[in-house]
Formats: sequence, C-alpha cells, structure tokens
Amino acid sequence: MKFDLAIVNGTVVFPESGLSEVDIAVKDGRIAAILQRGIAQSLAAQTLDASGKYVFPGLIDAHIHFGFAEPVTEYTTETIYAAQGGFSTVIGYFLNNEDYGGVFEREIQHATPRAHVDFAFHFSTASEDHIRGLESYVRKYGVRSFKYFMNFKGEEGRYLGLDGTDDGYLYALLQEAARIGNVTVVLHTENIELVNRIRREMQAGGKSTLRDWSLSKPPFTEAENVVRAMYFAEHHGATIYIPHLSSRMALDEVRRWRERYNRIYVETCPHYLTHTMDADIGSIGKANPPFRAQEDVDALWEGLADGTIDVVASDHVPRKRATKEKGIWQASQGFPGTATILPVLMHEGYHRGRLSIQRIAQLLTSAPAKIFALDSKKGDLRVGMDADITIVDPNLEREVRPEELGSYSDYSLYEGQKLKGWPSMTIVRGVPVMQDGKIVGPAGHGKYLPRY
Ligand SMILES: [Zn+2]
Repeated sequence: MKFDLAIVNGTVVFPESGLSEVDIAVKDGRIAAILQRGIAQSLAAQTLDASGKYVFPGLIDAHIHFGFAEPVTEYTTETIYAAQGGFSTVIGYFLNNEDYGGVFEREIQHATPRAHVDFAFHFSTASEDHIRGLESYVRKYGVRSFKYFMNFKGEEGRYLGLDGTDDGYLYALLQEAARIGNVTVVLHTENIELVNRIRREMQAGGKSTLRDWSLSKPPFTEAENVVRAMYFAEHHGATIYIPHLSSRMALDEVRRWRERYNRIYVETCPHYLTHTMDADIGSIGKANPPFRAQEDVDALWEGLADGTIDVVASDHVPRKRATKEKGIWQASQGFPGTATILPVLMHEGYHRGRLSIQRIAQLLTSAPAKIFALDSKKGDLRVGMDADITIVDPNLEREVRPEELGSYSDYSLYEGQKLKGWPSMTIVRGVPVMQDGKIVGPAGHGKYLPRY
C-alpha cells in the first residue's frame, strides 16, 4: 500500500488558510499527501472516516506543569490526560535553582518510557548560572524558551529557595536571549511588592474569600508589570511571551505597545474565559493570576477573536483536590486543565459564535508551534510534517468527569458540566493514541522534541 492511513470525509482545518473538504494520507508517521475526495481509501492500509467532524492539526498545550509540587513527575497520567483532550504535544515548565543539565537528564529518563504524547520543556531561570548556561541549554538540549518570574524577585525569591533576583537580572537575561536569537523569554508579570502589601492589609482585616484573593492581586499589579516587561524587551530586541494574561488592563497595554514593538506574544487560559472572582467555588478557584471581573472575561474573548491574544494554554497543575480544600491564603494555586481546553473553546467560543473553528485551530496549533519553534514539524497539516492529527466532533456533548480523563489530579473546575465539542481521536505521528475517550496508544510512544 502506498499509505499507512487515510483520514477521509472530514472537514480539514488548516490554521492559516481555512477549512477544506479534502482527505489526508499518512505514511511513516508523516503527512504524505493532501488529496481530493475519493482517492486516499484505495491507496491506504487503514481508513478512518471523519464524516461530520473537523480534522485539526494535533493540539499543542504550551503551558503545563508535570507533577508540580508533588513527589513524582507524572508523565504517564498527564500525557494520557492530554491525549484525552486532543493534545498531541505538551510543553512543560521546570523551576529549579540547580543547573538544568542534571534536571534535563533526569526528566528525559523518567519521561521517555512513560509519555503517550510528544513533549518539550521550558526552563525557568532563577540564578546567575542559568543565564551563563542559557546558550548551552539551547545548543545541547534544544530548549528555546525560558521563563522568568518577575514576582519572585528579592525576598520573595529567597523565601521560595531561589537566589532572589532583581531588575538587573531580568535585563541581563533578555540581553542574552536576544544575543543567542530565536529564543523566547516567558515572563510572569506581577508586581509582588504591591501584592504583598495589599495582602498583608487584607489578612489583618480578616478577609478570606475567593473574591478577597482576587482583590489582593488587582489588575494594576499585572498591567504595570506587563508594561515593564515590554519596555525591557524592546530595549534589547528580545522576544517575550506573557503567559496567563487575565485582565483587560494588561491586554490594553499590550495593544498599545504592539504599535511600537511587536515581539510580544500573549497567552490566556480557559479559566479566565469562564470564571470570575464571584464564582461560588471557594478556594478551589484559587489561581495566580486570580479570576477577574466579568468585564475582564469579556475583554479576553475579544482579544482572542481580534488576534491580540495569540495562544490559549492550560497552566495545568495536576495536584489533588485536598490541596485546595484549605483557607484561601493556604490553598494551593491552579488546576488541572489540558483536557478541557478544547471543549471550553468549542462550547463557550464556537457554539456561542465568539470564535471560528479556524481561529480555535490557530490558538491551539499554529501559534504555539511558531512561537516555540516547533513549526517545522507541528502545528499545521502540510506534507512532510508529523502526522499529529486531532479529530474533533463539534456536536459531541459530554459531562466533565475527572475520573474519565486520567490525570493524577482528581477534580476539575468544570466537573459535572456538560460541554459540547470534544476530540474523538488524538493521533501522534500517525499512531492513534486516543479514540472515543479510550487510550489506545502505548506509553513510550511520546518523544522529546528538541528545538534546534
Ligand atoms: Zn504555570
């Protein structure tokens, strides 16, 4: 047979050029041909009928944390969870004070026999050694994205066991990133000095609700730091990426700045599109940045539609529910999220007329692939690229039940809700990994993606 697999009768979603009624042929894990209807079946060993469905490039979650703050890095469970959500690639963050050589070797060894989908890493920079090592991380490990927490400066960083950096550090990091070239610096933007002061006052006043958590980190503390990030980046000509942007105020600053300097990318997360600070879920809803007001939610949807926001990613944190069931100031931050990204965008975005299918594909495939240097293989459906394919059933309604999705985590923000629009198949390099909610691909199929 000329091809291993043919995906026929679906509506193929090309993120850059739009929807097309064509068939896709796969050979040796790559896309071998894009064909007019009726040709591929007779040339392929196996045929998948995608009638009534959308055929997306494999989805990419550019922001996850493997086993964050848990003893074991859970590649098995979290890549199963990703596959359940239609994701064929995940990019995970590490935050260590030690040199990343050791961290990298350890993680690769652990992940390689366990991963069901492909994976890459972002390294967080927190020490002078990390700046000195930056070029070697690019050349030796193919890591091209580095995070810096503007909120872990000084005392706050030392409190967390890091070196405790300052603006001079950020300046030097961006300078080195720009010098190396084709490196993206991910900046957590938060003015921690303001936040700490506001929080102390609130705690002294006995404040303790989810809304209080949000009010302790008002939009100004995000927007002010976004401006500083852009100002620093422009100075060196560095490329920056602002993860989990949550407020209208910060978004408007990005809009203004892009006229002047455009190497700024923006991500938001599903929870900022669906929840406000008045959500009646107590400390389960604790995240950083916090949930905002309805006007911020509306602004983020506008930003997705008009292109101000480039990427939607989960900020997936697979902790147990028990770590959330504490007072608001003690509860852990963040939630599991990869597997519900697509259903949230389909249900709240596509079915409500806020986002087109093509725009959803851009946000989840071509944009993260380009920004994070995966676009030679991932993020589109061109001949020669990896045959990473997500088949999406726009009309499939399913109740979110965490236990069916496979994460180490045991809850979801969307638990018990019915969402319309789910992936029915996740294919990684030509191999079906998830089909109709069942994991059908082996652990160890997922590969590390160096970005040289
Ligand atoms: Zn994160």
